[in-house]
Amino acid sequence: MKKIPPFTLVALCASAFSLHAQEPKPAKHLGYQDTPLIPGTQWHVHDGERPQPRVITPGEASTQDKPGAAPSDAVVLMDGKDLSKWRSGKDEACKWKLEEGAAVVGGGDIHTADNFGPDFQLHVEWAEPTPAKGESQGRGNSGVFLFGRYEIQVLDCYENQTYPDGQTGAIYTQKPPLVNACRPPGQWQTYDILCEGPHFNSDGTVAKKMILTVLHNGVVVQNHTEVTGETPHKQVGKYHAHPEQGPIRLQDHGNPVRFRNLWIRELKKSDET
Ligand code: MG
Repeated sequence: MKKIPPFTLVALCASAFSLHAQEPKPAKHLGYQDTPLIPGTQWHVHDGERPQPRVITPGEASTQDKPGAAPSDAVVLMDGKDLSKWRSGKDEACKWKLEEGAAVVGGGDIHTADNFGPDFQLHVEWAEPTPAKGESQGRGNSGVFLFGRYEIQVLDCYENQTYPDGQTGAIYTQKPPLVNACRPPGQWQTYDILCEGPHFNSDGTVAKKMILTVLHNGVVVQNHTEVTGETPHKQVGKYHAHPEQGPIRLQDHGNPVRFRNLWIRELKKSDET
């Protein structure tokens, strides 16, 4: 009998294991139906018939040298190849330029062509200009506006102080970040933003304020923060009723901040069971 090379055997075993791991098991073998009901649900404790969560492929984390990959169910907003998902002004082609896979601020604010909301997870990466120029609000200023109107500040606050409610990771005008987690200018930094969008009554009053959780470079800087309104300069912002979906806007504040690897996942009620 012909001998099978050891490598082939390993490959066959790995393949068999992989196939087996993907086979769904009948629900009745997964859990229990003779346990108490979980209050407020139709499901028993450890109920095997409770719907299984959707299977997705998670992304890959970025490094300083290379942007990562988005989760399989994300909408990729900026992948370094083109800026087709972005617009300048009312509905013009995006004026920002791509340089070495990153979009460089210049030519006014840009916004997504599509609208998102009310609830979503947004991933953003940016790098501050180097060498650093200017001070306080004049150093590497940009911003991520949710629904086109609520700004999470982007600023170079590495060895650069400014008013706390205008720091990197601040909900501008309202809430400073819990800590200053800035990296030096030139290095890639990340925001991971969990947004529960605001809801409005039919008469335009606020039914539910927006809630934001923000991680800056993996560190929590906004922890389930209630947003008190819009984020204008030198004013207390109010809410103005708007649709439950809106664009993501990136700010041109006159500094050549770079952006890369933006993606968004809408958080769907249908995923909740
Ligand atoms: Mg700004």
